[in-house]
Order: sequence, then C-alpha cells, then structure tokens
Amino acid sequence: MNRPESVTVVGASAAGLGVVETLRREGYEGDLTLVGGEPHLPYDRPPLSKQLLSGAWDVGRLTLRQPEALQELDVDMRLGVPAVGLDTAKRAVLLGDGERVGYEALVVATGASARRLPGTEGVRGVHVLRNLEDAQELKAALARRPRLVIVGSGFVGAEAAAVARELGCEVTMVTDVAVPLGDALGAEIGGMLADVHREHGVRIEPGVMVEGVLADGARQVRGVQLADGRTIEADVVLVGIGAGANTGWLKGSSVPVGNGVECDATLYAGDGVWAAGDVASWVHPGTGRRTRIEHRTNAAEQGLAVGRNILAGPGEAKPFAPVPYVWSDQYDLKVQIYGSTRGADEVRIVEGGLGERRLVALYGQGGRVCGAAGINMVRVLRAHRRSVADAVPWEPEAALVGGER
Ligand SMILES: Cc1cc2nc3c(=O)[nH]c(=O)nc-3n(C[C@H](O)[C@H](O)[C@H](O)COP(=O)(O)OP(=O)(O)OC[C@H]3O[C@@H](n4cnc5c(N)ncnc54)[C@H](O)[C@@H]3O)c2cc1C
Repeated sequence: MNRPESVTVVGASAAGLGVVETLRREGYEGDLTLVGGEPHLPYDRPPLSKQLLSGAWDVGRLTLRQPEALQELDVDMRLGVPAVGLDTAKRAVLLGDGERVGYEALVVATGASARRLPGTEGVRGVHVLRNLEDAQELKAALARRPRLVIVGSGFVGAEAAAVARELGCEVTMVTDVAVPLGDALGAEIGGMLADVHREHGVRIEPGVMVEGVLADGARQVRGVQLADGRTIEADVVLVGIGAGANTGWLKGSSVPVGNGVECDATLYAGDGVWAAGDVASWVHPGTGRRTRIEHRTNAAEQGLAVGRNILAGPGEAKPFAPVPYVWSDQYDLKVQIYGSTRGADEVRIVEGGLGERRLVALYGQGGRVCGAAGINMVRVLRAHRRSVADAVPWEPEAALVGGER
C-alpha cells in the first residue's frame, strides 16, 4: 500500500466531503486540504428546489456537517476561493487568490453549473437554480406571486413548478420534448406526471423550443420567445435546461476532459488525479459505457469510493459499480429511479397503475432489466433494485413480478 502524504480535494460539497470523511475514517493521517469556491460550509443541494424554495426549511437545515464535526476532520479548509488552474507536472492547484496548493493525490469534485440561455446575461428576472444564492433569489421573486415561465421540464424545473404553484404563482412550463420527463420515465409515466402538473394548474407547452427571452428597455424580463413564433408573457423566468461539468479550471493540465473528467473504472484520471460526483465521467463496469451522473447519492458514493481507492493506490483500486439512484419530490408524489431508464426500449408497469398514481415500472434494454422507477411505492420499488443490479433477463423478471396490469 502506497499512501500519499498529501491529498487536496477541490469542490466542498457532497462528493468532496465524502472523500475527506472517508480518508479520515479509514485512518489517513496525512495532510488534507479542501478547496471550495463557495463561501459556505458544505450544504445539500436537493432541498434547494423543494424545502428551501417552499419556505418549509431555513438555510441552516441544508448544512451537511456542523463546524465542530468538520474541525475534527483536521482538514485545511479553503472556502470562498475557487481553483483557477492546475499544474499537473508540479502537482499544484492554483487558487483565485494567487496561492498554490500542492498535492500528492488530487480529487476533482467541482460538480456542475446550470446551463443558461444565450442572451440572458444581465437580464433581471431570469433565474437558474444550482446554488444557495440562486434558490434564495428565486424564492424572493416567487414571494411576489409572479407569472413564472419555466424553460425545460427536467426534475429541477418540475420541482420548482410544483412549489411555485403551491405558493400561488401562475406557472407555464415550456419544453422542447413531447412529454415532460418522458426521456427519464417514458411517455406513459411522464404523461401521468404532466397530468398531475396540469391538475395543479401548470400550463404546459410541450414540443417547442424557447429561442430567447424578451426584455424591456430596463433589461427586465417580460416574457419568452418561442421558436414557433409565439411569445409567452412572464415576470420571472426559470431556466432549467440541465447542467454542465465544472472543468474549465483544468484547461491546459494533463487531466482528460470530455463530458466531465474522464476517469477509468476506478475513478482515476491519471497523474495522481481522481474525480468524484457530478463532474466525474467513468466507465461503468456493469454496462461498459462512459457515464456521468448528476445524482446526490452518486456524489456521496463516489466520494467514498475515491477515498478508499486513494488509500489502496491506483494499482489496487476497485472499480466503481453502483446501481444509480435518484429521487424527485413533486406535490405529494415521490418519484424514485434505480439504474438507467433513459434510452430503454421496453417499459412495463409491474405494480400499481397510472390511475392510482402509485406504481413501479421496469425498464429494459437489449433483453435485460436496466432500470426501475417508482411513484409513491418506496418499499415495493426497493424490492426490484436487485433485478436492476443483476440486469436480469427482461421477460422472466416481468413475469415474476406480475406482468401487465
Ligand atoms: C436544485 C437541485 C435539486 C436537486 N435535487 C436532487 C434530488 O432530488 N435527487 C438527487 O439525487 N439529486 C438532486 N440534485 C443533484 C445533486 O444535488 C448533485 O448530484 C450533487 O450536489 C452533486 O454533488 P457534487 O459534490 O458532485 O457537486 P456540487 O454539489 O455541484 O458541488 C460542487 C462544488 O464545487 C464547487 N466548485 C466548482 N468549481 C470550483 C472551483 N474551480 N474551485 C473550487 N470549488 C469549485 C462548487 O461551487 C460546489 O460547491 C439536485 C441538484 C440541484 C441543483
């Protein structure tokens, strides 16, 4: 075993915290530095579009660890200073304040940033939702009960739509796909969720691109321009069109970057560099496919895996082979997904049904189960996790759990 004498982790959120906690828990006694671009102690992002936005939780509840617990880790925390460059030859991270932080092993855990609509820079009333400030600004805007247009129909947009309706805002969701959430859940279940949104008063404009926002002379947003020529008036626009990995600061280094930091199956990117969380792309040993996942549980699990693999060393490191898991809360519905449902060629509801709004569906690809999704069926869904993990053959699995209903 060849333990590094110093480890630097860049990105102080779920994945980065997972790495430093794992290292200390597993007995690592060397130097540990955690660099975070945000001035806050590590906090949790999923509540930003749920409990924080709705006002059910205050900011304090988002903190992942209390200061005392962080102190016990004996980590040199550099918060509020972003890493702006990386010298892989000299093994040093360049910080925004001009300092250099050396390392023997480096973990890139810089997450992702919300994509923006071109031409919206500096237009007041246009929001994204990725960090604490974004959520607080959006929350303040929603308190005025504006006409809200949400661009995009992914989980974050759908959750914000649900909260905004509960707060009494007029909400329109514009999406270029035919069925909101249809790419994640399939047309039938995505359609059922769209119905729930409509019943709660969300107007949905599917199958149309937003070309840009309309602003007045004072650069205040007034609406959105659709590709089919229509316009929709708005006081507030939330752009929820996905996120891109934060890899800009790695430019010019030897770290391989594509859609994220390109790691091997053990989350190792070479030259002493590892990656974890939303920023990491790795070859999943189960599917053989390069994968980048933006899920909270994955960030924690990859943090744990990287911490252990650093201690084991690149030669002894274990491949990371999870069953991905994500959840989303909308109104009184809990949506959960195990595995990969996107691109499935088969979908079958095997428990409950669309009408009941409680169900479990299996997803198949190439004759094998590749994913399972549940709506308000937490325990039943968990029982299907094994089938996803084992990628069991499609037909026997479907028959085993009851077939079509
Ligand atoms: C509104 C919202 C709701 C979500 N809801 C869910 C959900 O319900 N279920 C679910 O599974 N997932 C959800 N997610 C996704 C989940 O939050 C992410 O997968 C998770 O936060 C990823 O953790 P991470 O540590 O990899 O990255 P992040 O949480 O993005 O953290 C990366 C950190 O690195 C910092 N950083 C970036 N660049 C630099 C730099 N150059 N130098 C220093 N620091 C830097 C960032 O400021 C940030 O603090 C949600 C995400 C959002 C935004």
